[in-house]
Amino acid sequence: MDRNEALQILKKHLPEKRYIHTLGVLETALDLARVYGCDEKKTELAAIFHDYAKYRPEEEMRNIIIQEHFPEDLLHYHSELWHAPAGAYLVKKELGIDDKDIFQAIYYHTTGRPGMTLIEKIIFIADYIEPGRQFPGVDEVRALAKKNLDDAILQASRNTIAFLMKKNAPIYPDTFHTYNHFLMKKE
Ligand code: GDP
Ligand code: FE
Ligand code: FE
Ligand code: FE
Repeated sequence: MDRNEALQILKKHLPEKRYIHTLGVLETALDLARVYGCDEKKTELAAIFHDYAKYRPEEEMRNIIIQEHFPEDLLHYHSELWHAPAGAYLVKKELGIDDKDIFQAIYYHTTGRPGMTLIEKIIFIADYIEPGRQFPGVDEVRALAKKNLDDAILQASRNTIAFLMKKNAPIYPDTFHTYNHFLMKKE
């Protein structure tokens, strides 16, 4: 599937604002793929479709998590987390994109995980630093991403955890596991 075809399909599933976010993720992810030597074709599709399920009804996402035997503890956490695994599934099922690397990049783009692959790291970070993102600390992560992806992931997950804690929001264990992994890797 080429880029224009993918974007045309995506456009039908997202409101304008989220579509523009996706174009930012695409541009950023392709820059990172060139710098770090990741497959550009796979990076392109993973970036374009990373938020494919973002606007699906909660009920649909919940059913996918149950039916696909994805971790059911997701259902005890905020529904904001569901679009990543549900999206990975739907991109395969509805669009026929059957590629493990793309699947995992979409699946883990919100929480990250210990031992992320290069494409997973690129989508996770591109989602965080794309040009439309404006929040405290994002420029620091942008600078780190140019030098060392693992350092960028550590800082991004630190920021996300701090942000969620400030809001009194529950934090999904994978989010902590990502932080711990990239912190302890450095020591
Ligand atoms: P987006 O889909 O482009 O908006 O970005 P993400 O998929 O990365 O994140 C979606 C939302 O999930 C953001 O508001 C994050 O702050 C939030 N989020 C990330 N990790 C966690 C977590 O562990 N727990 C909860 N409750 N929310 C999280
Ligand atoms: Fe997302
Ligand atoms: Fe993210
Ligand atoms: Fe996103």
